[in-house]
Amino acid sequence: MAREKEITSVLNERRLFKPKKEFSKAAHLSSLEAYKRLYRKAEKDPEAFWAGLAKELSWFKPWKKVLEWKPPFAKWFVGGKINIAYNCLDRHLEGWRKNKAAIIWEGEPGDSRVLTYQDLHREVSKFANVLKGQGVVKGDRVAIYMPMIPELAIAMLACARIGATHSIIFGGFSATALRDRINDAEARLVVTADGGYRKGEVVTLKEKVDEALKETPGVQRVVVVRRTNTPVEMQADRDFWWHDLMKTASDQCSAEALDSEHPLFILYTSGTTGKPKGIVHTTAGYLLGTTVTARWIFDLKETDTYWCTADIGWVTGHSYVIYGILSNGVTTVMYEGAPTYPQPDRIWEIIDKYKVNILYTAPTAIRALIKMGEEWPKRHDLSSLRLLGTVGEPINPEAWMWYHQVIGKGRSPIVDTWWQTETGAIMITPLPGAIPTKPGSATLPFPGIAADVVNREGESVPANVGGYLVIKRPWPSMLRTVWKDPERYKKQYWSDIPGVYFTGDGARRDKDGYFWVMGRVDDVINVAGHRLGTMEIESALVSHSTVAEAAVVGRPDELKGTAISAFVTLELGNAPSDPLKEALRAHVVKEIGAIARPDDIRFTENLPKTRSGKIMRRLLRDIAAGRETIGDTTTLEDYTVLAKLRQEEE
Ligand code: ATP
Ligand code: MG
Repeated sequence: MAREKEITSVLNERRLFKPKKEFSKAAHLSSLEAYKRLYRKAEKDPEAFWAGLAKELSWFKPWKKVLEWKPPFAKWFVGGKINIAYNCLDRHLEGWRKNKAAIIWEGEPGDSRVLTYQDLHREVSKFANVLKGQGVVKGDRVAIYMPMIPELAIAMLACARIGATHSIIFGGFSATALRDRINDAEARLVVTADGGYRKGEVVTLKEKVDEALKETPGVQRVVVVRRTNTPVEMQADRDFWWHDLMKTASDQCSAEALDSEHPLFILYTSGTTGKPKGIVHTTAGYLLGTTVTARWIFDLKETDTYWCTADIGWVTGHSYVIYGILSNGVTTVMYEGAPTYPQPDRIWEIIDKYKVNILYTAPTAIRALIKMGEEWPKRHDLSSLRLLGTVGEPINPEAWMWYHQVIGKGRSPIVDTWWQTETGAIMITPLPGAIPTKPGSATLPFPGIAADVVNREGESVPANVGGYLVIKRPWPSMLRTVWKDPERYKKQYWSDIPGVYFTGDGARRDKDGYFWVMGRVDDVINVAGHRLGTMEIESALVSHSTVAEAAVVGRPDELKGTAISAFVTLELGNAPSDPLKEALRAHVVKEIGAIARPDDIRFTENLPKTRSGKIMRRLLRDIAAGRETIGDTTTLEDYTVLAKLRQEEE
């Protein structure tokens, strides 16, 4: 590949927030020195570092070899036997934790359920027997297409218990997307529900399964949970009600002793950049990665009530609603619906109701909540919160500041966690009692993670020069392959830059070694000989008092080569106008310089996003350039947003 120029960084964020003394004192890691010591220890002997931590898990049989690395294919804890459901459930039943809440669940209509570890263990064992009764054996794939209800957690843990590989498909996907994922994974059983609640409406699920199953020759059975009482058609000999099967199922089902490398799940990426990939994660390394990161990054304590707002259909939900949290024996909150339903304060109401201590959410949600105004969080007592987290996209510094001040009251640290479906667990992040934070930076790599910013040749770039974000060594929770496509795995992740895992993201490190993720490399804009990351220009726009959200893309321009096109959503109460456009242009120039001055600004009520809430800049590129959209749009959340943007063009 031709040598390309580095990415120019223009963001100039200098605020620094040290953790409060009381927080640090009680934290798992209490000082920057402690972090650095640990990081160095892990660097010196990564295998010994991970093996030391792996000893805390419950094994049926110890491993023989920590790592077998035949680049780019890794095997961790070779020869060991383990079960992740056992680690999330059975081992907590020995003491008082058996009666501790494992899941506190809240339905959108306001109903709620609490499952203790014992309850969850019983339900999982029963459903594991149901699966066996339907002919599912170790190694089979089970597709799960469900709303955020406890049965979703039960179904995934039941699969893990017997060694069936789950493939969870987010409940917002269409029948076509479902069909393709079922076929790609060759699932033989589907677990679903009649429907789920979202923004006050019923999202029908069984109906979409019926549609999808017209073209899924491999599926033999469907198990249906009754949630909304929506009438559904049950096909004899194929479709069975969950409650019927569970009635007679035994609650005795010992956890299967699985190889460390047994495939735990397949999960398709969110599809921000293109066609989703079936990412394969295995058992022991994934369990280790999620367990240790959850404990140190969320600073989990026995008494914590922890809430991650992600849907379990995304990797964040897999790792940090369920596996990494339950393996630590902590109470996880699970919520079915929209965070702003029936009112914009639902999220704050839930925090107040359950006295949530740790909140983990996404920049897209934070920006939506900012747009609604500060009066909503002010209506509730949020004093139980002691730690905040974000994941999914770069967080604009001003959104970070809002989260810090309005929600955290300046008291709670924020962990901005960078990771991917592929990495399985968080990779770059503050450790909240140890690492001072800077708004918009994911700060430093987790101990054991060899993250770096390099040029195309794989050489580290100097401080404050943008480049490619890579991981230089295998890590336990890494993806093992792309399902049925090891060539794509090699090509996508291990080919662009020699010898290392390439994340697809651009980043820079500052003089303190802090990482600043600048967005996806595919989204980088070439202007006047500079390559600019989108996040920095967007953050400059978002720092204007009227702007809630912004997306920036490049557009072909006869004179300049590339022009900068900005799509801007205003905070409620602000009206689009030409003077405001001018003011925003001037604001960007003042914040980061004339080079980043947007050529066009368009106001829009909504931006096109993936179903996981990430901005899809590649679609905006087409609109800005006046082209037809050619790429995959199946992961788009709301098609009308695109149509509206196009109309506004005409
Ligand atoms: P696809 O790979 O199919 O295009 P995707 O990359 O959006 O979809 P995910 O695995 O859900 O799918 O997202 C991972 C990406 O999200 C990262 O590569 C990065 O671009 C972005 N990201 C996640 N967390 C952060 C963060 N804290 N800061 C900056 N970017 C983040
Ligand atoms: Mg990706």
